Amino acid sequence: TPKLVMIPGPTPVTRSIQDQMGRETVAFGDPFFVQDYKDVLADLKELWKCSGEVFVVAGSGTLAMEMAIANITKRGDSVLICSNGYFGDRFIDMCQRKGLEVDVLSAKWGTSVTAEEVEKKLSEKKYDVVTVTHVETSTGAAAPIDAIGKVVKAHGALYVVDGVAASAGAEEYMDPMGIDVLLSCTQKAFGVAPGLAILWASKEAVEKRRSLGTIPESYADFEKWLPVMHDPSKYWGTPAINLVWALKESIRIIKEEGIEERYNRHLRQAALVDAALEAMGFRVAAEKPFRAPTLSVYLYPEGANVNDAEFRTVLAEEGAQTAGCLADFAGKGFRMGHMGNVDKHILVSAVAAVERAAMRCGIDIEPGKGLGVLQKGLAEEH
Ligand code: PMP
Repeated sequence: TPKLVMIPGPTPVTRSIQDQMGRETVAFGDPFFVQDYKDVLADLKELWKCSGEVFVVAGSGTLAMEMAIANITKRGDSVLICSNGYFGDRFIDMCQRKGLEVDVLSAKWGTSVTAEEVEKKLSEKKYDVVTVTHVETSTGAAAPIDAIGKVVKAHGALYVVDGVAASAGAEEYMDPMGIDVLLSCTQKAFGVAPGLAILWASKEAVEKRRSLGTIPESYADFEKWLPVMHDPSKYWGTPAINLVWALKESIRIIKEEGIEERYNRHLRQAALVDAALEAMGFRVAAEKPFRAPTLSVYLYPEGANVNDAEFRTVLAEEGAQTAGCLADFAGKGFRMGHMGNVDKHILVSAVAAVERAAMRCGIDIEPGKGLGVLQKGLAEEH
């Protein structure tokens, strides 16, 4: 049985995007490819309202995180890391390795750091950089990036947002939100296969990079890539040609849908899938005001005696691959994406698979109840 990839990334890759990856690879100097690359970069700048620079390079989200830090910090700089889970914490080691002075502002898992808490920290101490994880993939909680951005800007720090589990599914705008580096990648709400790192940088971030002179990194250096991003016929590292085409198709789909409508669709989808799973007795780990539009952590029903590994194996047999929980939530539930180019057929199939798996694993549910909630919500959209 073909499986739906319902883990929080990679997400289902739609046929037209797959087709781009299956095309015959050309030279990276091919004038048509150069034009395609240019179009991708221009569209990303426009859609994310970025008057600064954009970078698309081969790599995963972790490279994008590393690039963000590498280009705007030097040894001894102070960084405030806002974290509410596993991926927020990933910045800690990354920044410590670079000899940065690191403070962590932690929020309870399932919630987020708030703008008020950031304000308090920034009024106590001067920070060069503040990092926030837009959607924390280990908890399904989203941070109020707009409100935090206003605080960070008022204090003159550079603002880094990890958009890996959010970009193209949850609202992010560079200039309006005061973001200095937004880092992301292709395998989540863009609905492309893994393999491209995407970074947007403000003029201030690019200026900060310039002020640093030579940095230890080479592949990750904005200054090495800037000439290529301005003119993709130039060379620094070989571009992932087929993935750039796939991203171009993803952006075409985003523009066709309308980016605002895409963000709204994700909000509706998240609310519906959450409500369907809650109707079955699962609990959404993220507290209500913090629930992410792109993925959720579903905790097993209270009192249900579920063998965690077995549940996910049965769920995969029923047709939906999901991910296990991490750290605080490990063993207590599963993580499921509902982002990117998923449509109602995929959502209905995934929720139906969860129902069958729950029944097979002895969770006391009423067959069709969760699906009924989802179906009603989907029908009401029209
Ligand atoms: N940040 C967040 C919020 C993530 O969810 C992930 C991956 N799940 C990463 C960073 C790291 O990305 P990658 O696995 O592509 O290196």
